[in-house]
Order: sequence, then structure tokens, then C-alpha cells
Amino acid sequence: MPTQPDNRAEQPTRTEAAVEQPADTAQREGADIAGAGAAASATTPPARGPVLIVAAHPDDPEFGLGATQAKFTAEGREVVVALVTSGNEGGEDPTVSDEDLMAQREEEQRRASAVLGVKTIEFLRQCDGLVVNTPELRREIVRLIRRYKPETVFTHDPSNFFSEGHINHPDHRAVGHTTLDAIFPGAGNPRSFRELLAEGLEPHKIKEVYLFFTAAANVWIDVTGYIEKKADALAEHKSQVRNPEGLKERMLEGAAKSGEPHGVGAAEGFRRIVFRR
Ligand SMILES: [Zn+2]
Repeated sequence: MPTQPDNRAEQPTRTEAAVEQPADTAQREGADIAGAGAAASATTPPARGPVLIVAAHPDDPEFGLGATQAKFTAEGREVVVALVTSGNEGGEDPTVSDEDLMAQREEEQRRASAVLGVKTIEFLRQCDGLVVNTPELRREIVRLIRRYKPETVFTHDPSNFFSEGHINHPDHRAVGHTTLDAIFPGAGNPRSFRELLAEGLEPHKIKEVYLFFTAAANVWIDVTGYIEKKADALAEHKSQVRNPEGLKERMLEGAAKSGEPHGVGAAEGFRRIVFRR
């Protein structure tokens, strides 16, 4: 891990103290911040097509939207997870090789995704802690968007720089920034990344973006009944989660708290952008 810890959800080899912290702090704080001023309610998204999640590290998709993933797959939506890194800095033992830790964390991700009913995972294998918004990475994400043709993309909120007691991981910001750039203008513009046309990858415009780990949520997805699945999936990230039972309890409490202002039993909050046609 980088010297500056990630959000609490991203702490490597969590200590008990770290696990005591809310796992999705930024998201829940966001829900509270936005909920205070917004007449928002829990919303089930109207889109029904494929979903692409672009995340920085193994376990980010689960912390950010584990319950939403479980809900979507239960409803028959195809969900694809793309991980920009395989989390080779996500540990406290400097003697473990990057290759071994990456292999372990990729396997953990496969197991976690399987719990949620997600069948497809793409590993881009950039170096953990050093992700930057380059044209090359943007092209990789454009390639994924054009290949899977999602209606909906989930990624990190790149504008979430820091909050009290917490710096959002730079990889989270970089991945969110790059993914938004890949969505517009990259994926939908016939003149962007024209080399991809030779691969048969035609321009594709998505309908909506949901940003997770946000401090400015404006929509809450009703995930009543799916928080246990989220916690079960997180428990598969064994290198990162030491006390899965404690985590489950806190997640159930946290999701109930997020859902309460919106009249549902449990919610995950996001910053949603719907594109005009
Ligand atoms: Zn992360």
C-alpha cells in the first residue's frame, strides 16, 4: 500500500481498529451530506442493460457497490468488473512478491464476484499506487466500453479528494478521472482511438454513470436484502478483511442508516449522471 492509507475500506490487512471504522465511510458520509439538502429518495435505476464497473483495486467493487451488484445480477443484468490494478501494494509484508500478492488478490476477486453472481472480470494489471490518467489507460477503458457496450458505468468519484481524517486513494481518483474521460469523448466518438475500429470496436455511448466512494451522492439504490451478500463477498477478500463477521454487522447497520432517510431498509448511495441524448 502507499504510505498514506486509502479510505478505510482500502486498508491493507486491517487491524481491529481499522475494521471498527465504517467500511464505506465516504459513501455514507456522502449520503448524509447530500441527503440533508436533497429531496432524494431511493431509486431503482430504469436502465436494464449491461453494467460495467471500473475500479482501482480488488475489493473496491464490493465495498462501493457490492449489494447493488448482487441486486443487478439477481434481476438478470449482466455485470462486468474491470480492475485497473490487482492490488500489489495492498499488504503489510514487503517480502511477498508482487506476483504472489496479485495472484492471491485476483483469486479473491474471482471468489467475491462469484458470490455476487458476476461472471466476467477484466484485469488491466497496472501498478497499484501509481495509476495515472494516461492516453494508454484511457484507450484500455474505451476498449472495454466498446466491447461490452454497457448502458451503465460505475466508477470512483474522482472529485473526492479528501474528507475529515481521510485521503481518498490516488488510484481511486485517477481511475475515476480516466474512466470519465474514456466515456466522454473517447468511447462514443468515431474519431477517438480510431485504431480500435480495426478491432471491430465501434463507438458506443453509454446512458448513465454512477460514481461510488463519493461525497456528493444524489441517488440511493434500494438494496434491501442484499447487504449480507455484499458482506459475504467482502469476506472472500481474505488478505484484506480480518474480521468478516464484525464487518457484516457494521455493514448491516450502515446500510440501514443510509436507507432510513429514503424509506427503504438498506441503500447504497452514488453520484449519478444521466446523459442527455
Ligand atoms: Zn481501492
